[in-house]
Amino acid sequence: MARPLSVAIVGAGMGGLAAAAALRRVGIEITVYEQAAQFTRLGAGIQIGCNAMKVLRGLGLEQRLRAQSFYPRSWNNRDWKTGEVKFDMIFGESAEQKFGAPYLLAHRGDLHAALASAVPDQYVKLSHKLVGLDESSDGVQLTFANGVVATADAVVGADGVHSVVRDMLFGISPVNFTGRIAYRTTYPAALLGGEKIDDCTKWWGEDRHIVIYYVKPDRSEVYLVTSQPEPDFRVESWSAKGDVRDLRASFEGFHPQVGKVLAACPDVHKWAIMDREALDRWAVGKVTLLGDACHPMTPYMAQGAAMAIEDAAVLSRCLDGADRDGVADAFRRFEATRKERTTRVQETSRANIWLKERTDTSWVYGYDAWSVPLAA
Ligand SMILES: Cc1cc2nc3c(=O)[nH]c(=O)nc-3n(C[C@H](O)[C@H](O)[C@H](O)COP(=O)(O)OP(=O)(O)OC[C@H]3O[C@@H](n4cnc5c(N)ncnc54)[C@H](O)[C@@H]3O)c2cc1C
Repeated sequence: MARPLSVAIVGAGMGGLAAAAALRRVGIEITVYEQAAQFTRLGAGIQIGCNAMKVLRGLGLEQRLRAQSFYPRSWNNRDWKTGEVKFDMIFGESAEQKFGAPYLLAHRGDLHAALASAVPDQYVKLSHKLVGLDESSDGVQLTFANGVVATADAVVGADGVHSVVRDMLFGISPVNFTGRIAYRTTYPAALLGGEKIDDCTKWWGEDRHIVIYYVKPDRSEVYLVTSQPEPDFRVESWSAKGDVRDLRASFEGFHPQVGKVLAACPDVHKWAIMDREALDRWAVGKVTLLGDACHPMTPYMAQGAAMAIEDAAVLSRCLDGADRDGVADAFRRFEATRKERTTRVQETSRANIWLKERTDTSWVYGYDAWSVPLAA
């Protein structure tokens, strides 16, 4: 029997771990290389759309995520000042039936830990920062900053928004700073002192917004994320800190519910919102990109990780049964199957009007990456 295909995945983020779990399901030998020395639990929430949940169900993670995440009645959209409801996107059981999976609100660390649980530790090499790639007729050689050299039949660059694999394949692509920043944090709901808040609401202001939701099934933890103008801050990092007094000042005059959430907020992170154009191509030979590495997007639809997770399922279907000579064609089919959808989501996200008024959401949440037809 021919030996199984070996695939090196660069990056153990949302997309890389989902890809590792999905490729293992079809008998592919994987190794995941991650630059970080350990996984850290970032203070952030993440919306897991029904479309992503269908993939996560296929990876055996549905029960775990249901048990750890918040199940909102809706994603409500309200006026910043009056609180008037603009559009209440109902989730809960009716959406679960319509779209085929629940819509969950999670702590980002819980989703990441769930994905990590689907990939046995021996396949994840921490402290491996990729610095070089070299493709030959035998496969692809990977070089890491720690001096390790490895080879694989194929490589998946799931190394996120600052992807070095993308830069190696296509050169450094331009970044458009939007002139906006996002504050974000999670904190214990006990700090609200018993104040009741909505399950999940985006408060739409004139030139800024704030999204607030619970991330635990017992409403014990709250998450907030904003978007507002700030032309001079350009640090796109999960660890940069902001000043909670500035955050409060920039949402002064918002609805009292927002004021209460900000008054109770102990500290906050700050992130510069960047925008990048869709790439012309995702793959060269036996190396492909996946997730934010090839379709980074503004966070306004809460679909970036969902797109990376969908990519993982489709990639596993394209590689299923492929041998070493079939890798490049499988990568071409992967890109051809996914690109129209991810470009549409990138563009819709950029407009920042998702759910601001009555919106047809079925093209996003109804998608099933396990059964969507693959490109020829
Ligand atoms: C404020 C904010 C809110 C968001 N909210 C949501 C939401 O609600 N729902 C949603 O679906 N999406 C959301 N997103 C988007 C989501 O976070 C990303 O789309 C998602 O993390 C992309 O996954 P990825 O695997 O492509 O990249 P990442 O998760 O960023 O993972 C990349 C990994 O690669 C590693 N890496 C990088 N370079 C190297 C190297 N040279 N060698 C080895 N390893 C390397 C990194 O350390 C990292 O672990 C949000 C984003 C932001 C900024």
